[in-house]
Amino acid sequence: MPQAFVQRHVGIDSHDIQHMLGTVGRAALDALIDEAVPESVRERRLLELPGAQDELRVQQRLRQIAAHNKPHIQMIGLGYYDTVTPAVLRRNMLESPSWYTAYTPYQPEISQGRLEALLNFQTCIEELTVLSVAGASLLDEATAVTEAILLMRRANKKCASTTVLVDADCLPQTLAVVNGRASSAAFDVVVADLETEWPSGEFFGVVLQAPGASGRVRDNGPLIAKAKAGGAMVTVAADLLSLTVLVPPGEQGADIAVGSAQRFGVPLFFGGPHAAYIAVRNGLERMLPGRLVGVSKDAEGAPAYRLALQTREQHIRRDKATSNICTAQALLANVAAMYAVYHGPEGLRAIAERVHQHAVSLATRLASAGFAIRHAQFFDTILVQVDGTAIDIVSRAAESGINLRLVDADHVAVACDEVTTSEIIDTVVSAFAATDASVREVSFSLPRSVMRTSEYLQHPVFHSHRSETAMLRYLRMLSDKDLALDRTMIPLGSCTMKLNSAIEMEPISWPEFASIHPLAPPDQVVGYRQLINDLETWLAEITGYDRVSLQPNAGSQGELAGLQAIRAYHQSRGDNERDVCLIPKSAHGTNAASAVLAGMRVVVVDTAPDGNIDVADLRKKVAAAPERIAAIMLTYPSTHGVYEPAVGTVCELVHSVGGQVYIDGANLNALVGLARPGRFGGDVSHLNLHKTFCIPHGGGGPGVGPVAVREHLAPYLPGDPQSQDSDEPAPVSAANFGSAGILPITWAYIALMGGDGLVHATQTAVLAANYIARSLDPHFSVLYAGPTGLVAHECIIDLRDATKRSGITAEDVAKRLIDYGFHAPTLAFPVGGTLMIEPTESESLAEIDRFINTMIAIRKEIDQVEAGVWPLESSPLRQAPHTALQVTADNWDMPYSRRIAAYPSSAQYGSKYWPPVRRIDGVHGDRNLVCSCPPPEAFMTAQPELVTTQESFS
Ligand SMILES: *Cc1c(COP(=O)(O)O)cnc(C)c1O
Repeated sequence: MPQAFVQRHVGIDSHDIQHMLGTVGRAALDALIDEAVPESVRERRLLELPGAQDELRVQQRLRQIAAHNKPHIQMIGLGYYDTVTPAVLRRNMLESPSWYTAYTPYQPEISQGRLEALLNFQTCIEELTVLSVAGASLLDEATAVTEAILLMRRANKKCASTTVLVDADCLPQTLAVVNGRASSAAFDVVVADLETEWPSGEFFGVVLQAPGASGRVRDNGPLIAKAKAGGAMVTVAADLLSLTVLVPPGEQGADIAVGSAQRFGVPLFFGGPHAAYIAVRNGLERMLPGRLVGVSKDAEGAPAYRLALQTREQHIRRDKATSNICTAQALLANVAAMYAVYHGPEGLRAIAERVHQHAVSLATRLASAGFAIRHAQFFDTILVQVDGTAIDIVSRAAESGINLRLVDADHVAVACDEVTTSEIIDTVVSAFAATDASVREVSFSLPRSVMRTSEYLQHPVFHSHRSETAMLRYLRMLSDKDLALDRTMIPLGSCTMKLNSAIEMEPISWPEFASIHPLAPPDQVVGYRQLINDLETWLAEITGYDRVSLQPNAGSQGELAGLQAIRAYHQSRGDNERDVCLIPKSAHGTNAASAVLAGMRVVVVDTAPDGNIDVADLRKKVAAAPERIAAIMLTYPSTHGVYEPAVGTVCELVHSVGGQVYIDGANLNALVGLARPGRFGGDVSHLNLHKTFCIPHGGGGPGVGPVAVREHLAPYLPGDPQSQDSDEPAPVSAANFGSAGILPITWAYIALMGGDGLVHATQTAVLAANYIARSLDPHFSVLYAGPTGLVAHECIIDLRDATKRSGITAEDVAKRLIDYGFHAPTLAFPVGGTLMIEPTESESLAEIDRFINTMIAIRKEIDQVEAGVWPLESSPLRQAPHTALQVTADNWDMPYSRRIAAYPSSAQYGSKYWPPVRRIDGVHGDRNLVCSCPPPEAFMTAQPELVTTQESFS
């Protein structure tokens, strides 16, 4: 297959394959796979997928599909608005591999650029909401409200109530998600129109929407005061743009603010991906769900950024975690942050005022034509009473290319946004068939009591990059600080950092995919529905399940959706007592956290000495309370990187007592085309399209975590959040198709590879992992392997013995890899003191060998420490990573040379990656929590040597 896409996607050719097989000691790829994958799970039938097509054909096909989507001017609102993505941001961030191929910034020394961008996001949110700490993004507004409710319940210890009071004017998708989560997360919801009634009873929390879904703007101060007087905490779901002109929640006494940052330059994408934000008042920061960027210092004392607090705790605390969120929306948060950097406070305010003026002008014209405007106070959305003609008006507008919101037969809502013009307002007025009859003189203006007077975004970063040249260079300066897939392999176990090819990425910016509102009428989204249909069918075929839902927008959300389906299934059979979720010790942290959120109790199953699930322990735990077993959550292949032969036994055991089997599909890269979880024992799985199926990691999101089920669970898959039907299952995301806007990436990947190509990818991924395992084993022991001595698609190398003998830790090795120009493997998961390596099929043999040789060189460095040549504390390993500033300093008092520090191998000679900071002190940052942009002076004083040098020149 010369020149086929598969040859572009897979980094090794047939010659390399022979060489690697030689090292692994196997004669052929098929033989390797036959030995590695247990017969009990293996399937030999070919995947029934369309045959592989070349890049041109796939692009043409996608263009045809896209042509069936009709981008209109979107004035539906409800949390989704047209916005202009500044071209400089689109091209140099959203579409730039240096941003989108980056991994989550767990290794902060090589992530300072994206951490700074996320810190800008946090600072922007903190200042617009006037709350002291904001997180680095959540998944969407509706789930952010749910996270806020759970936070209020944890934090409001004074209050015994389990009921939250939610204003009826919240977004409908928020109400649907909150109601859906209530039963499993054990809180009750009372929804009331707080404008007219305040229900009796005690509430641990109150949720308000500002402005309301109806567009209404009101002074929330009195309601917040009333809630607090009753002992409740308060969350306000606030529109970010409106906060530039309206009183922010923090100034009215709210404890938490959440919302969407979509309209800060992020395309509509048919509902997602968009970054949600959350900000909390002082005292709540340690309970914040999701990731938080903080400022700490490096070994030199210079300010340096890293993920703070619960970031690590998510894996460590498992069932006691603050939430199950892992992958969030980093890339979109960064776009939103840079939108604020680009426009600055005056620019944002000007946009908000223009949007408001258009809404006022529309309201005035409609009112003078005799229409009643329901709320006299609004920001961007007006609700118009139309007495039975709503359908006509909305369809007339649609004929002129504008989508309005059909509220009911008598009401139409119109939302203005950044792209609204007076011509558009004219067209909307004519769709209402309104003649400017001046029936009534009405004027609309907002009272002083709701207007913001405080300043925001005063930090220089929001004032210094206003020209496009400055913006371009700022983005480039930041991304130059980071290591992403565009510079080096990222050998992260469990995360499958494979190629995100340009041909797969391109379509997401096409207006036919990017500019579609999630509530656009069905005839405008025919292309999307087809793409979604294809993907659901293909993923069902690949996984062996019967039905797939693409709604969950991360693996964690797929887990929650799957476990909720299991719970609902048990309940439908009267099995209300089943609440135990068995989880192996080695499981990913999200598994336990999701089980708790789904209302289950976690019972941990031990690991046997060979790393496999301890079947005897499992039998014991099942026998202890067989009628209580709801499910087991397995990862396959296991997080130890092994195809466990006993998986069939494990599934049978759990099924035999009436439990369900959840197979975490994050490791599907070792299975595609070889084995199907829906056929070897699973009832439900989630997949991570941002791992196995080429959606890039984006520096920590977006993601797509489809949930796939067998037939009996299909009725409980996530429902449409806009459905009015009370039988509709609970949704897990705000948008019906979650992060639909990035689905073309996976569609293109599968279409380009075809069934054969996908199998080849899996086989070569497994070969590459075994090649690394075999090559490194003489130097570092490989912790676990299957009965035939083979690993799956990743391997764990054990440094605990080296640590015992030399003091050098796995972390030291991770940091030393930076000096060699590599991103570290997964550190300390799932086993402390180890590194987990996953090369994927996309890496070339040269890059894999560079990694192996580097690891061997590092092994020799460890030996030097062990032999006493280098004292531990002043070894290149402990001192790593080394900055340019450090190795060019006038003083050098290390027992190794500067050359060894900076250029430990010849591979760095031509293109050296210089980390911008030395090793970061995480503990210092957690003790002295700072989560907003530090003042510029902080960077000056921290580099005494540099300052002196500058002075000597001046
Ligand atoms: C990545 C991963 C998850 C979580 O997926 P997110 O998209 O980050 O929420 C769950 N389980 C395993 C084994 C994983 O590797």
